[in-house]
Amino acid sequence: MALLEVASVSKSFDATLVLTDVSFHVDQGEIVCLLGPSGCGKTTLLRIIAGLETANSGQVIFAGHPLDGVPVHRRGCGLMFQDFALFPRQDVAANVAFGLRMQALSRQQVEARVTEMLTMVGLRGYERRRVYDLSGGEQQRVALARSLAPGPPLLMLDEPLGSLDRALREELMNELRVILERVGVTAIYVTHDQEEAFALSDRVIIMRRGRIVQQGTPQTVYRHPASAWVAGFLGLTNLVPAGVVALEPVQVETPLGRLGPLDAEWATVGQQVTVLIRPEAARLVAKGAHPDDVVIEGTVRECSFRGGHCRLVVHHEAGLELAFELSWDMVGLPQPGESVALTLRAEAISLLTGEMDEQATTD
Ligand code: ATP
Repeated sequence: MALLEVASVSKSFDATLVLTDVSFHVDQGEIVCLLGPSGCGKTTLLRIIAGLETANSGQVIFAGHPLDGVPVHRRGCGLMFQDFALFPRQDVAANVAFGLRMQALSRQQVEARVTEMLTMVGLRGYERRRVYDLSGGEQQRVALARSLAPGPPLLMLDEPLGSLDRALREELMNELRVILERVGVTAIYVTHDQEEAFALSDRVIIMRRGRIVQQGTPQTVYRHPASAWVAGFLGLTNLVPAGVVALEPVQVETPLGRLGPLDAEWATVGQQVTVLIRPEAARLVAKGAHPDDVVIEGTVRECSFRGGHCRLVVHHEAGLELAFELSWDMVGLPQPGESVALTLRAEAISLLTGEMDEQATTD
């Protein structure tokens, strides 16, 4: 049974509709990410679940019980926000113990729980340190220890890594997933960063303008974005307009030439669609060497070494710029201005419903 069910929730502020008919569920022990651009309604949705905001219509159901009228402190949700909301002048132990004050625990029990939580987040021995003197990453760990200490059945995290620099975010992102799994807590995690959502969640719920536009595992969403907009939002920028010209197998005509066979049972001849070419689709080849494969030729705009791979931006004469991540074979990299040929793996190409103009680079 779902631990949390959000059923047809809508919300407006004044006359502006911020959430429209939002429905989803979260299973026990699941980590679900609400992912979407700034302003799409993620925080409002969290606040409604937490009881900090009231929906205009729809229901929030927790463990089978509707939460209508149940106040914030009786909902049992743990909350962790970007600004941590720690008490800067108090020590770490007092901050972690804060969430335990509602529970009838002895002083020894509180101390034991605080130590257990600090050990879990890698801060054992920090009990007497003042929060004020800690680094951003350490403060983030204290905030996590504090929100986990009371053992909430549902933990909601709103951009908890948002204010940290990239390297620290990367480190804590991986750590957070391990900690949440170890505790086994059910969690809803809000972010506008797809990498964070992919790294952390069992399931991603993508929102746009107050509506859910897709949900699925990170792998499914990445492999089969529901629309050109979702693809663009996930950073999959190689989107090419196309027309379906054949079925069984599906083939499409594009400014890059004919592409196929492609997997799209829903396609019909004449349909205008969008082709998504994932960045890992391409391999450099000698020109004319593979007449049977899909080969595209273009001029290198940019080629930068990124460690495990290199990013190559190629300009195609049809006026398209395509970006690829090439595995680096320790040989030389192509230079800007050089003309190159690339083969495309059919498995890394998808057909998306909808034409290019439905795609948005904005929300
Ligand atoms: P971000 O990632 O920037 O926090 P978000 O997806 O969490 O964005 P929300 O904070 O839920 O989005 O805001 C959704 C919309 O509702 C925004 O346009 C915001 O300005 C508006 N909004 C939120 N709270 C209120 C409020 N109390 N009164 C009026 N408008 C509000």
